[in-house]
Amino acid sequence: MMKLFAEKILLADGWATDKTLVIDKGVITDVIAGFVDSAERAEGIVIPGMVNCHSHAFQRAFAGFSEQGSEGQDSFWTWRNIMYKFLGQLTAEHAQVIATQLYIEMLKMGYTRVAEFHYLHHQIDGKNYAQLSEMAEAIFKAAKGTGIGLTMLPVLYRHAGFGELPANDGQKRFINSTEQFNQLVSDCFSLSSTYSNTNVGIAPHSLRAVDKKSLHSAVNHVRNLDAKAPIHIHIAEQQKEVEDCLEHYGERPVQWLLNNAELDEQWCLIHATHINDNERKGIIASKAIAGICPTTEANLGDGIFPTTEFLLEGGTFAIGSDSHISVNPVEELRWLEYAQRLIKQQRAILASPKQASVGQNLWQKAALGGAQSTNSNTGELRIGKQADLLVLKKNEMKLFAHSDQYLLDSLIFASQQNMVSDVMVNGQWVVRGGQHALEQDSAKQFTDILEHLSA
Ligand SMILES: [Zn+2]
Repeated sequence: MMKLFAEKILLADGWATDKTLVIDKGVITDVIAGFVDSAERAEGIVIPGMVNCHSHAFQRAFAGFSEQGSEGQDSFWTWRNIMYKFLGQLTAEHAQVIATQLYIEMLKMGYTRVAEFHYLHHQIDGKNYAQLSEMAEAIFKAAKGTGIGLTMLPVLYRHAGFGELPANDGQKRFINSTEQFNQLVSDCFSLSSTYSNTNVGIAPHSLRAVDKKSLHSAVNHVRNLDAKAPIHIHIAEQQKEVEDCLEHYGERPVQWLLNNAELDEQWCLIHATHINDNERKGIIASKAIAGICPTTEANLGDGIFPTTEFLLEGGTFAIGSDSHISVNPVEELRWLEYAQRLIKQQRAILASPKQASVGQNLWQKAALGGAQSTNSNTGELRIGKQADLLVLKKNEMKLFAHSDQYLLDSLIFASQQNMVSDVMVNGQWVVRGGQHALEQDSAKQFTDILEHLSA
């Protein structure tokens, strides 16, 4: 058991001063007024850790490699070709080193849990590993080594495009039969039982990569293993995807999903970027989560999710770093708001009637939505919740905000550097004074691999 005293802390019901958290086996078991003897003192403002709802860890290795333009011809689809080239060389050992580096970066920036949308399953030549879950285990090991919480989402990837198009060469490492995929999911559940602070769901890759029959089989299988297992899907990232779906199914992607899958609060729709009013209302009525990745969506030229209307009508959202062009929840939330300001030519849009501070509204809602998207006992600080928390640098924060209502606005809109000093996950400190114990070793191994892969 440990006790942590905070002069200032964002609890589930708002800001509080001089509180001691009692933490036992990773869970907050009491919140006591005042300083309790033998408590450790948090050296700054305490807020809940952020959940990253969407990550493809290996993509960290080529963040920044596809920014060289050729007269406006670059798009999501040319970026994808660069990704496939990288995958032609990447081993399970590489994957673990890359994920380790990435997860350290996430922790240092304030992500305390990550949902790994994991689709790199097979050997370089496309053949199965002796253990189907070899690649997934590399991710479990990276999470364990770094201390980040993990929701493993093995990806079902069946086809290259609508109409069950056969996979191309770049996709051979992703493809499983539905039966083999369900076996992989079962294997990941077994793995998860041996790695603490992890759980498992599934991720049907997209409607272009999965047909109706295999989608239903995978959903049924995972629901039999865990009725609350998260189910994530890429849904409407690109206009072309919407057009192809319309041509094949006669329906837009989200509409098709609403009509053909039983969406509920365990579903997370990643990049529901291109939706109409009916689809937006349908997502909200289903209680599914919108997984938004503002910096990746901007970087890939995807489009802008209608966040204003979605939140106004009671939708739930989470944020993800996806391609890791940015690994910083502050930047994701800043751009979530700025994109809306630029479209609507207004200010302070994503506040709510109950919470006038845009920064606080977005941080708390993204953390709670992220917790829901990972079916994890995280996202807010209260008795019974897991102790996943950040300590913000006391002296730097003093340069901005003088009263509670401005603290998270200052963090999200005005900070020019990382304000996270200490990070606790599941009751354990994993970052102290801005440093992670493995960061030097990890950086060395990562740069060696980068040299090798980009040669
Ligand atoms: Zn993605």
